Amino acid sequence: MNKTRREFIKQSALLGATTTLIPAIPSFSFSEGAKSNAGKPIIISSANGKEAIKKAMEMIQQGSDALDAVIAGVNIVEDDPNDMSVGYGGLPNEEGVVELDAAVMHGATMRAGSVASIRNIKNPSKVARLVMERSDHILIVGEGALRFAKAHGFQEENLLTEKAREEWLKWKENLSNQDDWLPQHSIEDKDIGGLFEPFYRHYGTIHCSALDKNGNLSCTTTTSGLAYKIPGRVGDSPIIGAGLYLDNEVGSAGSTGRGESNLFNCSSAMIVEYMRQGKSPEQACMLACKRIVDHNKEKRLLDEKNRYKPQVKFYAINKQGEHGGASIWKGGKYIIHDGTDVKEFEGAYLYEK
Ligand code: ASP
Repeated sequence: MNKTRREFIKQSALLGATTTLIPAIPSFSFSEGAKSNAGKPIIISSANGKEAIKKAMEMIQQGSDALDAVIAGVNIVEDDPNDMSVGYGGLPNEEGVVELDAAVMHGATMRAGSVASIRNIKNPSKVARLVMERSDHILIVGEGALRFAKAHGFQEENLLTEKAREEWLKWKENLSNQDDWLPQHSIEDKDIGGLFEPFYRHYGTIHCSALDKNGNLSCTTTTSGLAYKIPGRVGDSPIIGAGLYLDNEVGSAGSTGRGESNLFNCSSAMIVEYMRQGKSPEQACMLACKRIVDHNKEKRLLDEKNRYKPQVKFYAINKQGEHGGASIWKGGKYIIHDGTDVKEFEGAYLYEK
């Protein structure tokens, strides 16, 4: 891959600061550089969050706290039957049942709440907030999460749209080696099935982080998770530190893509720690990509060029209002709202097809 001089310089700077911790950086590309929005509110989200960040910025400009804003924003996506990766209309588990995961974090009070594998409630981000505010817990799962939501007045509803059911049925009728059940195998085995061609399996989620007018950070990640997952499978989205993390003094980060990669690597917490060490949001996101790749020993997850096959995308903002994103594979777009407009960016990446 040809590197521009700027990319080379940025890569060298990153290397210089991290060689002791993380040797052997593979070739990768940075995007246009750290983007700053210093001193002003800013919101970042995955590319499916256009309406969400418009709504959230409108609220922030009227003085809302960042958490109220990001939750109201992602509720639009949770309610949208056409987004088949989040909330109502999300693709179901392998038995045709929609199970949602979501978490919220509030920087000003440094609190968090989350729900996992919750059924029949279309706004899991709202329930996650209640877990944070109205329980002594951080994570409630499954049946307990549903009961907790109902105790707070949420109505159960069928989340499986006709469109999602038809997609699921198509998958079920074509079942082959492309499900999540693996035969006994060794770490060296490559061809044991599984569905890890990047982009084959339907991933999708919304992450949204915001810095409000008071300089406080909040974030949320909400998803229907991996399509056709084993029932009860919990991804990274509701796990504090994996699918999202913030420190109100440092920055906020989140992820979409293969959750298992983040569960193993505590990626979002690491991004915040990299930013604390002085890395830009983009550099921090790149280091999280690299950490995933470096830790992997499973041959089945590598392509013929020994590159990590799954896609994982990261989004981050820091306390100064700078933003950045990165993904393992090229194509990890993200969007921001800087108070004037929604802008789309292509993040940095490790590999190109
Ligand atoms: N990260 C989510 C999960 O693994 C899915 C996604 O972002 O597409 O559940």
